[in-house]
Amino acid sequence: MKNLPTVPAATLPILNSSQRFPVRRVYCVGRNYADHAKEMGDTGREPPFFFIKPPDTLFECPPNASVDWPYPSLTDDLHYEVELVVALNAGGSRLDAAAARAAIWGYGLGLDMTRRDRQAEMKKQSKPWEIGKSFDHASPIGPLLPADALGGLVTSGEISLAVNGEQRQRGDFAQMIWNIEEMICKISEAWTLAPGDIIFTGTPAGVGPVVRGDEIRAKAAGLPDLVLRLN
Ligand code: MN
Repeated sequence: MKNLPTVPAATLPILNSSQRFPVRRVYCVGRNYADHAKEMGDTGREPPFFFIKPPDTLFECPPNASVDWPYPSLTDDLHYEVELVVALNAGGSRLDAAAARAAIWGYGLGLDMTRRDRQAEMKKQSKPWEIGKSFDHASPIGPLLPADALGGLVTSGEISLAVNGEQRQRGDFAQMIWNIEEMICKISEAWTLAPGDIIFTGTPAGVGPVVRGDEIRAKAAGLPDLVLRLN
């Protein structure tokens, strides 16, 4: 028998701690801010939908400091999507609002990077669009903070993103179509949530392309900045 492979477990750093948060699954919510849903073609109040990215797409970013991020293959239309990330330390299925709230361990700031051209092409053909979302390093994320550091359940606060110093996205958590508790409840209707699951909670309007050499700076109330240099 050949040697078995060594597979590193996915974990995320915790701000000002030597401990790390173990990641089981990465859920993402689509179209959870009305203005972004509109720019993506929604015409009415459509429910958000969910997809999953593999945990190894997480790309660890230091707090408030620039990090080089490799521009992916197979795209000429790479988009940023700035998102609040919720980390869970409890799970279950068909959770009610109280259980959903109790399951929240903490928060982070992430980017749901998207090969929009590949995604659009697959959508048009009614094929799965993993190639647009689940590529190497597709989920840059900063260190996590325990929920207490953000006052428990996050219901409002500014989130924004700038490219080369120019603001492109700006929103408030209060604009989420489904708030964090509702989102956790909804996901737990379709999947059994478990400790270590994290959720990218959707992006406000203003998504758009970036190219090699660009600098992305993402900001969210209560969390360290995320700064990526695309190379
Ligand atoms: Mn997204």
